Amino acid sequence: MTEYEAVIGLEVHVQLSTRSKLFCACSSEYGARPNSQVCPVCLGHPGVLPVVNKLAVELGVRAALAVGADVKRLSTWARKNYFYPDLPKGYQITQFDQPLAEGGFVEIESKNTSRRIPIARMHLEEDAGKSKHPEQAGDTSTLVDLNRCGTPLLEIVCEPEIRTPKEAHAYLDALKQILEYCEVSDCDMEKGNLRCDANISVRSAGEEGLGTKTEIKNLNSFRAVERALAAEVDRQTTLLKDGRTIEQATLLWDERTGDTQLMRGKEESPDYRYFPEPDLPPLVLEDGWIGEIQSRIPESPAARRQRFVSMFGIRPYDARVLTASRGLSDYYDAIASRVPDAQTAANVITTELLGLLHDRGLDIAACPVSPGDLTALLNMRSEGVLSGPLAKQVLVAMVESGKTAEEVIEKHGWSPVDDKVQLDSWVREMIEANPDAVAAYLGGKESLLQFFIGQVMKRSQGRADPVKVAEILRQALAGERA
Ligand SMILES: [Zn+2]
Repeated sequence: MTEYEAVIGLEVHVQLSTRSKLFCACSSEYGARPNSQVCPVCLGHPGVLPVVNKLAVELGVRAALAVGADVKRLSTWARKNYFYPDLPKGYQITQFDQPLAEGGFVEIESKNTSRRIPIARMHLEEDAGKSKHPEQAGDTSTLVDLNRCGTPLLEIVCEPEIRTPKEAHAYLDALKQILEYCEVSDCDMEKGNLRCDANISVRSAGEEGLGTKTEIKNLNSFRAVERALAAEVDRQTTLLKDGRTIEQATLLWDERTGDTQLMRGKEESPDYRYFPEPDLPPLVLEDGWIGEIQSRIPESPAARRQRFVSMFGIRPYDARVLTASRGLSDYYDAIASRVPDAQTAANVITTELLGLLHDRGLDIAACPVSPGDLTALLNMRSEGVLSGPLAKQVLVAMVESGKTAEEVIEKHGWSPVDDKVQLDSWVREMIEANPDAVAAYLGGKESLLQFFIGQVMKRSQGRADPVKVAEILRQALAGERA
């Protein structure tokens, strides 16, 4: 029985976070009124000349350095010719045989292992516009928005070293994290900042040669990439098992049906007739400038994970969670060195704060509690001013109101209670209200103590100090025994 394995390569298009387009001064901001951010250059009027956006090149170089790629001192521009309504010039300016960078890798980590997926090439190119096809029955026209024409993209092509759909997902997660950390792109999937095409073939396990590959387009999320690849691995494997051959093709993924559809076969595959772009000189980069960009690259997600473990002594698992996004890791970083117990800070953020934000559909960037305010709350907790449960309650109110811990405590009258007379009276009330449980406790079921403490904490609305409550409870229950 032959075993089969998949050979997967991904092409990722990343929108670089510049304010203007790649070859003109038009704004590249998302969401503007259709066709309001255009000029003769990005509309391809005759006689205009493109001028390269320096920041776009810098961001491309930064991304290349961040994955350890070899940045070429000389790269060239080419025209990729094709006709489509959203491409008024009739060609796209891209880099072809001499790209911006080659080599480098992205490390993907699973539980105990990590693997490096090598990068083949990275090149700069301009984006096309967008066609808006009729969505509802009755709409008959396709509309074209050219605002996106000329927006700078970095295309990142990896070697076909990915073996499973799950690995493809992990590669995309890791790549996105790197790009986000080094501020190359906003990586906002909903705005199409990160788009992906996948190449896939299947072969007998252990075989060296490659089978015929198909390309899948229209993958709008990392989950879609994983699902589409799984479906295509199945389809190709079934064909091979039946002794049939794979036809080279471009497929479209349909998220709704969970199926791929044929977009075009081998015969229809377009010939782009690449030729050198006559209006742009080669892109020549100086060592000094590349060195300057290198020196300004922020800490990588992997380096930050290691630092969180070594500097703050937190668990590796928590370090992974806390570095999942640049925003979250910055948030924790601003707190960890200002509290006596960085692990407690990690616990509060990962288990309490993230849960509260998730319930409200917020991400860390929109967190109503500033790092300074959370630091103050954590310090009140470690100094014993607030008990753990009360601190938890205060945090909920802080997320809801955006106010500081002090303001919340003041407003709700939640100042902690350590007055012995008050605590005695709550303990007494609890004992009287639970005669059966008290009898069971006195009969030897000592685990009930936690339940009793919980009851008193509830009665005090979290304001009692659980350590003091436990002490008073033990004495009072001993008194019951006598
Ligand atoms: Zn323009």
